[in-house]
Amino acid sequence: MKQVYNFNAGLATLPLEVMLQIQDELLDLQGTNLSILEISHRSKEYENINEETQQLLKDLLNIPSDYEVLFLQGGASMQFAMVPMNFLTEGRKASYLQSGTWSEKAIAEARKFGKVTIGGSSGHAHFKKVPDLSRVKIDPETAYIHLTSNETILGTQYQSFIDTGKVPLIVDMSSDILSRHIDVSNFSLIYAGAQKNLGPSGVTTVIVKRDLMENIPKNIPDIMNYRIHANSRSLYHTPPVFAVYIVNLMLKWIRNNGGVKAIEKRNHQKADLIYSTIDNSAGFYNGLVHLESRSMMNVTFSILNNKIEKLFIQEAEENGFVGVRGHRDAGHLRVSIYNAVTYEQCQALTDFMIDFQKRFG
Ligand code: PMP
Repeated sequence: MKQVYNFNAGLATLPLEVMLQIQDELLDLQGTNLSILEISHRSKEYENINEETQQLLKDLLNIPSDYEVLFLQGGASMQFAMVPMNFLTEGRKASYLQSGTWSEKAIAEARKFGKVTIGGSSGHAHFKKVPDLSRVKIDPETAYIHLTSNETILGTQYQSFIDTGKVPLIVDMSSDILSRHIDVSNFSLIYAGAQKNLGPSGVTTVIVKRDLMENIPKNIPDIMNYRIHANSRSLYHTPPVFAVYIVNLMLKWIRNNGGVKAIEKRNHQKADLIYSTIDNSAGFYNGLVHLESRSMMNVTFSILNNKIEKLFIQEAEENGFVGVRGHRDAGHLRVSIYNAVTYEQCQALTDFMIDFQKRFG
């Protein structure tokens, strides 16, 4: 097989060990003689996977006991609607931080349900940095504050969060969950599509504080109601069994690789390697975003000469570097270095970048 370095933004690379285990167990899940693709979601085997996967996430993130872990469908995009449906109740307002494309999608959905104020925005900087959290005013009447911890398209990331006191803080962590240490008790609800750091697409993880679910309106559809899912331990309807099973393997892989702290250290090293290659290129490569908002997950950069940039993409593809083209809305170049991307793969990329610069710089 040809060596491939997968820098896709999501769906994204999975560790080889995890893929081999999926392959190994596909026809016979743990001695059952059945495949994970055909077992009942009410079977003991799946019950165990469901419970164990929740527990693994609780252990890895030190989730306090007054939180529930849910496995839902519909992607993070469904969360854009589900959050306001559940919490932006009649007569209330929610505050959203506007940091780029994904936060704007969340804002647009929330506006369909109620009043939304913009608690902070980096629009003036064309979203090349995250909004300044120290300037966010916290109105105790606000139903919740929403932010996007990592903007996958332009590659910006909050380096820290704010204490919102009694106002619930709700965060879209789709593209950086489990990539770094967080204190879950700072948040009332965290959601993340799995397809970057947690597994394949098809399952969305939600970590929600129990007391936030106390006043959910009864007239919303059950499938959109967090409490219904929590009460049925994510078995309200047929869950995405295969995707949850892969999340289970991914979480074990993270645990076996030293847990979140070790993964975070490795992620820093990977990001430092690529950013330093950009910064040491004497302007041949240019980072797209402000230094203080640089994402540890999605590194975006450009080459000033458009023709040479196109050639970079072409040569990268020829050399097995997959997914280096920037998002269609941002253009230029983007490499996504989620948890499963290794330091060695980043090194191969920077070797290629340095060699390319030597030839075209
Ligand atoms: N939020 C962020 C930060 C994302 O990166 C994405 C997908 N790239 C989404 C939301 C939407 O996720 P989904 O495709 O699972 O609906």
